[in-house]
Formats: sequence, structure tokens, C-alpha cells
Amino acid sequence: MAEILNTASIQSFRTDLAAAFRWAARLNYHEAVANHFSVAVNQDGSQFLINPNQRHFALIKASDLLLLDANDADTLHQPNAPDPTAWGLHGAIHRHCPRARCVLHTHSTFSTVLACLKDPRLPPIDQNAAQFYNRVVYDNAFDGMAFIDEGERYAALLKDSDKNVLLMGNHGLVILGETVADAFNRLFYFERSAETYIRALQTGMELNLLSDEVAEKTAVQWQDYQQSAEAHFAQLKVILEQQEPDYRL
Ligand SMILES: [Zn+2]
Repeated sequence: MAEILNTASIQSFRTDLAAAFRWAARLNYHEAVANHFSVAVNQDGSQFLINPNQRHFALIKASDLLLLDANDADTLHQPNAPDPTAWGLHGAIHRHCPRARCVLHTHSTFSTVLACLKDPRLPPIDQNAAQFYNRVVYDNAFDGMAFIDEGERYAALLKDSDKNVLLMGNHGLVILGETVADAFNRLFYFERSAETYIRALQTGMELNLLSDEVAEKTAVQWQDYQQSAEAHFAQLKVILEQQEPDYRL
């Protein structure tokens, strides 16, 4: 088993991931008791925290999170085993993509609508969408639920890429981040951008696309504006602390 970071670090990962679940529920990004978020806690990314099987996002506490080893083939046979699709997708990504520190998977409404279009590409129609210009992996080979084989297929798409967004055709979304805050902020902005685009399409009017040059310039500016992710997430935790502090127990 690879070296795990110290106990205090793991507790902060637990707290942040629990906060992400609580906020995802508030934003209606959850789906029933499915969908999963994970965060790596050791240096090679093989040990990770993930939500327990069949637990609603709105109820998850820091201490509920499972600590799994992406290389442990017996994981699904252990007591308190994760959901098989959670293991299939997140286990494969953490096993093959050490850069994937935090992995958020949702079927959030507007991203999923986008993933169901024949052409699912998100065009740079506003400042938010521009941050994803040429920065999304688009998959168009859905082959069933994310058990082992499908999870491996998704992980392979991310393994050889430096992109942090995977739009899963006919399925949903995977977001990667360096921290939980970074990933959650990216999830928020991708879903918001997809909503803006889908609502713009619904007007039936012609879209006013940004030029490639302005889209790329804006995307680079977003990359240099990282403090907003940490500030965003810190504020979300302040609200949780006031309104549902049991998330960090
Ligand atoms: Zn899914």
C-alpha cells in the first residue's frame, strides 16, 4: 500500500469532500442516491476517499466516506463495499491517472442534455463557457453502465490528456481538479455554462460566438484566476458551518 498522507490531511480531505456533496445536493446536481465524488489522499493518487453506497448527498458526513485502494481487486467483496459503478469509474481513474486528485461525476441536468446532443461541443458563447475552450474531452462511445470495462474506457480517455473535463456521451460529466475546491468550482462553471448554452439554443435565435482568439485568451485568464476557486469553496463551507455543520463530523 502506497504511503498515505498524514491524519490531519486526510481529515481536511474528508471535510472538503463532504462539503462538496452537501452543496451538490443544494444545486440539484445529485441523482437519487447515485453519482460519486472522490479525492486522492496519497502521493501516487491510488488511495482515495469516496461516498458510501446508496447514501443521499445531502446526508453525507466527513466520517462516512470510504477510504479505498484503487489497486485492491477485492474492494467490491469487502464489508461496506462501494457501489460497483463508483468502483468501476473512480477506481479506474485513480488507478490510471495520478494527476486526477479530485474526481467529480454527476448527471447534472444541463451537462447531461449537452452530452445527449449529436454535436455535444460547448461553444464559447460567454465568459464562463470560454474557460472550457479546447479544454474538454468529448466521448461519443457510450457502452453501458460504468462497471469495470466502461470505467477503464473512460479512464483511458483522461490518462493521455491534460484536460480536466470529460463530457460522457449519452451519460453525464466527469470533472477533475487539483483539490476538491478546484474541481467543485470547475463543476459549477461547466454546469452553468451548459445551462447558458442550452437556454440560448432554446431561444431559436442565432448565437453570437466569441472568436477563437478571444476564447483562448479568456481561457488562459481563467487559469490565472485560480484564487476564485478556493474563495468560492471557502464561502460555501462558511454557509454550511452556519446551516448544517454536521457535514464535517
Ligand atoms: Zn454516471
